[in-house]
Amino acid sequence: MAETTNSIPGRGGIWERPNSLWEATAPPPPSLSTLKDSVQADVLVIGGGFTGLSAALHLVEAGKRPVVLEASELGRGASGRNNGQVIPTLTRPDPDDLVARFGPVDGERFVALVRDSASYLFDTVRRLGIDCAAEQAGWIQPAHTPGRIKISQRRVEQWGRRSADVELLDRARVRDLLGTDYYHGGWINRTGGHINPLALVRGLAAKAVQAGASVYVNSPALSVERRNERWVARTPEGEVTADALILGTNGYAAGVFPNIRTEVVPILSWQMATAPLGDNVRKTVIPGRQAMSDTHGDLRFMRWTADNRLVTGGALLIPVNGPERLKAIVGARLAEMFPQLAGVTFDYVWNGRIAMTTDYFPRVHRLGPNGFGWAGCNGRGVALSVSLGRELAHAAAGRDTRELALPFTEPTPLPFNSLLQRVGPLKLLQYRWNDSQEI
Ligand SMILES: Cc1cc2nc3c(=O)[nH]c(=O)nc-3n(C[C@H](O)[C@H](O)[C@H](O)COP(=O)(O)OP(=O)(O)OC[C@H]3O[C@@H](n4cnc5c(N)ncnc54)[C@H](O)[C@@H]3O)c2cc1C
Repeated sequence: MAETTNSIPGRGGIWERPNSLWEATAPPPPSLSTLKDSVQADVLVIGGGFTGLSAALHLVEAGKRPVVLEASELGRGASGRNNGQVIPTLTRPDPDDLVARFGPVDGERFVALVRDSASYLFDTVRRLGIDCAAEQAGWIQPAHTPGRIKISQRRVEQWGRRSADVELLDRARVRDLLGTDYYHGGWINRTGGHINPLALVRGLAAKAVQAGASVYVNSPALSVERRNERWVARTPEGEVTADALILGTNGYAAGVFPNIRTEVVPILSWQMATAPLGDNVRKTVIPGRQAMSDTHGDLRFMRWTADNRLVTGGALLIPVNGPERLKAIVGARLAEMFPQLAGVTFDYVWNGRIAMTTDYFPRVHRLGPNGFGWAGCNGRGVALSVSLGRELAHAAAGRDTRELALPFTEPTPLPFNSLLQRVGPLKLLQYRWNDSQEI
């Protein structure tokens, strides 16, 4: 997918209001304005998604004055468009991979952050009383070939060694849990689950604002510079000066820090929600209401909503006529797995940009004195970004970063990034080939 930017970041293009179930059902956001002044802050936070809003919340709780700049509306990036699966693992790297990459201290600290990230999200929702249809029902990764059970075994062994609430599931158990004989086994992490993601975005923002954070929408940071040992961001009509900086722009980054923006390749992922289904059908498909994402590279995933819609989706090589083609493709997949879903209709289809890295590791950075940020969720960022927002807030508030779960690396911008964005979707061909193999 080619990058679509606008002369003013945040308006139109990739920031268009999506035709999503979440836009239709999330409680309204708090009333927020555009920055039209020069303001001072302890911490400047760029990005109004989970990362930025979690950081803002933790900053006010630590007694700091954050100012959040959001280029568009809150949640117009990935945070308001995702499947809402709260998953306490990364896409590819397993705990031992993280330790091998970041070392025994920083690596294990980051592994613990990922392990606890789903529980931390649900605990935060409960602690603050955020209305976001949160269900901590568990997360299941079923194996679509017998060979991929070794992925389940490896993950259960590595997470189990670190006291995560995980269990290996044999074929019969997966059949009972999911209501389909399509899979060969798998594993469950009981701390996972699902939320209405846009409701969580708006809820985090409301709580942060109530506690004293300043959040501005339609206020893109057009430039960020160091001036008199402070951070200064310019917006179309205002300016923020702050002691510390947090960058939470991920796959929707525009304008600032091009070396961070170009180290990820945004890939389009499509989401879709069925019409509400009858309770008789609902009880036969994932009756325990866990979230599910399987081992396909061309991922199959789904979760229930409170009003009995299945929220699922897929990927396309070419996005032309995406909604109609996906209704046919994903509808057929659902019917293959659950014959009782044949002919199911979809009320909403939308998409969003997932920030991919070439090795599937997220990137956490120091951006300068008291400046911190991250990018590269690789599609597993709901739980991760809430916890990373907390850690970035602690760093910006002055905590010793050696005590925090922030595995810093140097930015690694990808040469020919815009070309990679165009050819990135072709990776789907490789995924589909691998998916059909016994690996
Ligand atoms: C379609 C889709 C499905 C997904 N499904 C799941 C899932 O089920 N489970 C899961 O764990 N993960 C999922 N993810 C990943 C997850 O949504 C992201 O990792 C997470 O939302 C990232 O949050 P963030 O706050 O870091 O970034 P974002 O939510 O993308 O927020 C970045 C914000 O920065 C703003 N911004 C950019 N530039 C500027 C600027 N110059 N000035 C001011 N603001 C700026 C943008 O407008 C945007 O609002 C999915 C992602 C997508 C796209």
